[in-house]
Amino acid sequence: MTPDTIYAQASGLGKAGVAVIRLSGDKCLDVLKALTQKDDFTPRYAYFCSLAFAGQTLDSALVLYFKGPHSFTGEDVAELHVHGGTAVIASIFRALSALGCRPAERGEFSRRAVLNGKMDLTQAEGIMDLVDAQTSEQARQSLDQVQGGLYKLLENWRQSLVKIQGYLEAFIDFPEEDIPPEKQGQIRDKVHDLIASIAHYLDNNDGARRLKEGFKVVLCGRPNVGKSSLLNAFMKQEVAIVSAIPGTTRDVVRGYVDIKGFPVVLLDTAGLHTSRRKLEQQGMERTKSSMQEADLILHLQEAKNFPHTDDLEVKDKLVLDVWTKADLPHKSLPPKALLISTRTGQGIDDLWQAIAHILQEHYNPHQTLLTRERYRVALQEALQSLQRSLTAPAIELQAEEIRLAARSLGRITGVIYTDEILDVIFKEFCIGK
Ligand code: GDP
Repeated sequence: MTPDTIYAQASGLGKAGVAVIRLSGDKCLDVLKALTQKDDFTPRYAYFCSLAFAGQTLDSALVLYFKGPHSFTGEDVAELHVHGGTAVIASIFRALSALGCRPAERGEFSRRAVLNGKMDLTQAEGIMDLVDAQTSEQARQSLDQVQGGLYKLLENWRQSLVKIQGYLEAFIDFPEEDIPPEKQGQIRDKVHDLIASIAHYLDNNDGARRLKEGFKVVLCGRPNVGKSSLLNAFMKQEVAIVSAIPGTTRDVVRGYVDIKGFPVVLLDTAGLHTSRRKLEQQGMERTKSSMQEADLILHLQEAKNFPHTDDLEVKDKLVLDVWTKADLPHKSLPPKALLISTRTGQGIDDLWQAIAHILQEHYNPHQTLLTRERYRVALQEALQSLQRSLTAPAIELQAEEIRLAARSLGRITGVIYTDEILDVIFKEFCIGK
């Protein structure tokens, strides 16, 4: 059964100069002809036409036609660039329905693109993330996925497994051709290599969470050192309570900012000091737990106290020392010290740069990231299968585990071809010689 021809507004909702309505399916060309009274559309050319239906002019529009399979979905696709008013769009939608098309479901264009082999699942998911991206780093990462970064990595691993499986199945099918011992060794080595690569990749892939939820930058230091003031300076608006009475920030306050493309959650903490008051003690507990989760800690101290430093009592965390209230009298600090004043604005830009630099240095933004939990789960399954394959008591069971591992990877991208295994056997072995 041929799929329905579907339509949807591809551009954002709301009033706009131009709105793009996209159609996909066999009826595209007929629909264009019916709406424009034009007979011929050369694919990939833009036509300026008047759109009319049932004797009524609907709009003047820029019309494009893409002939499948050379289109986003792989089917015939049409785009109507119309005036972006609600009434115009509604009247065109009515005409499209009357011409036998139906509104697309969520993600239906991308789904068809995947089913028609125009892209894999991770690329389709990358498009979703790209549309959601709010900072340049998020956008860059999503674009990498749209362009097949993750797909290529996974396919590489999967192809290696398909090859191994091909060898093993050939040995099963043709037992008289004993496996040379060096071949067995090579297969084991290859499986070990794959296990190491996948495990390393899984272990070092916390970047996606950070890129999605934001890098946690925790401001801490004694009461009154200027944490809330700095948070406010960063947010460029009053979000935290600034007060001269020590200990007013008992809660962890969140601010969300874009630091040079990195999404950052700023956490302002209750001051660290010894207190007998229960409420403040709770605040300090929370401070300690947010310090544990921090990707970076800004340790604020007043410049007048330099060179005396407080002990933060945190281990294995990136800590940046920040000296505050530079506008008040203080001893001279080394030139590299981060010296700021929220009163005068001194050093705030430098601090901003320093944070961006640290995030860039330590969080490897150029790695292909695991942006979805389903990727991680499937990779873990693949890893377990590979580990089991090494201890499998028979070659059949070994082949089965390798097959399962390849399937797990194939599930991520949505490509699982069983025919490939046969291809490998016939290509690489001279069977029937
Ligand atoms: P927190 O308890 O660490 O969050 O400190 P606050 O941000 O609430 O600041 C405590 C007091 O220090 C307030 O009275 C602020 O106005 C003052 N303060 C903060 N930053 C500066 C600064 O750069 N210079 C001066 N002179 N005072 C500051």
